[in-house]
Amino acid sequence: MAVDSWISQRAHDIEMSGVRKIFELSRGLKDPIDLSIGQPHFPAPDAVKAAAIRAIETDKAGYSVTQGIPELRGKLKKWTDEKFRHDDREVLVTSGTSGALILAMLATINPGDEVILFEPYFVAYPAMVTLAGGTPVVVETYPKFEIDIDRVRAAITPRTKAILFNSPANPTGVVPQAGPVAELAKLCHERGILLISDEIYRAFTYDGPAVCPATWNPETLVIDGFGKTYGITGWRLGFAHGPRTLIEQMAKMQQFTFVCAPSMVQHAGVAAMDVDVAPLVAEYRRNRDRLVAALSGKYELVKPGGAFYLFPKVPWGTASEFVAKAIEHNLLVIPGSVFGRRDTHFRISFATKPETLERGIEVLLRIADRP
Ligand code: PMP
Repeated sequence: MAVDSWISQRAHDIEMSGVRKIFELSRGLKDPIDLSIGQPHFPAPDAVKAAAIRAIETDKAGYSVTQGIPELRGKLKKWTDEKFRHDDREVLVTSGTSGALILAMLATINPGDEVILFEPYFVAYPAMVTLAGGTPVVVETYPKFEIDIDRVRAAITPRTKAILFNSPANPTGVVPQAGPVAELAKLCHERGILLISDEIYRAFTYDGPAVCPATWNPETLVIDGFGKTYGITGWRLGFAHGPRTLIEQMAKMQQFTFVCAPSMVQHAGVAAMDVDVAPLVAEYRRNRDRLVAALSGKYELVKPGGAFYLFPKVPWGTASEFVAKAIEHNLLVIPGSVFGRRDTHFRISFATKPETLERGIEVLLRIADRP
């Protein structure tokens, strides 16, 4: 078939997301207990919905400047200026956090450049690096999911262009302490390596805020987004802030790819910035505490300080075998093999109603002993 021969090597090289495989395995299930999804279960706040509706009704339908509508970019700029007080920090509004990440890669990675990732990692990271022609270099964080700065040092080569850091982390929920984050930030500064900090889960922390490496390294490129914080993952709104030169190059890439973030969603973003999500975060803190307390005796786990994930070790077999067993019991969770090379852990999302979480806990306790 000629069609097959049209497919590029880079498309071939990307494996179908393991998350989708789980969806497929679970297709026949009636009313599954879904602890697999990486998004909040609550609806968008009313003020955010109203702002989007108003923007549609008042015909805010055209292209925006690629950098983002001035109201939103201005508000984000004020926020970053107050937080960091960096002279050279500029803001770009993007089409989702993924949009910002891919622009960052396109703007910085040359073929053959290496990008260090911490394993386990967000499923799309390696593909984003290879799409830009780069080579992912993996640094393990098992079993505590902590950053070992010596391992990072050992992974650096003359080709290392960037390090991609994520806190609070997907899939572990881990929020590294200030010490290791400062070490990483300083190491990047000393070696002239670009540090990219993906902070999409910034709003979801349960034991104190996540520290931003830009605090110690003003050249850090921070990637952030609205989707998780306000329950609007499908609306596609993200932003990046970092050194002006980098942001300008990313804006150029955006102009010729995504063009701009969806216009009505940018207006909703302005309203979203005034919404307090503390009650929702408190709900997920209760979920986290309940889940950790319920599983602690039966599962080896690291208590997550943020995001809405727990990443325990499977009590028997491989993670794929264990997840297949969970699916037989109507429970959807994600095997660790999706997030890296190891098939030893699995991800539970606790972004759900307490009743659903209880049903999931009941199954997890039931299947914890080797069958
Ligand atoms: N980074 C991380 C760590 C994520 O978990 C996700 C989404 N699951 C993204 C980026 C992508 O977010 P968005 O939907 O805003 O593109």
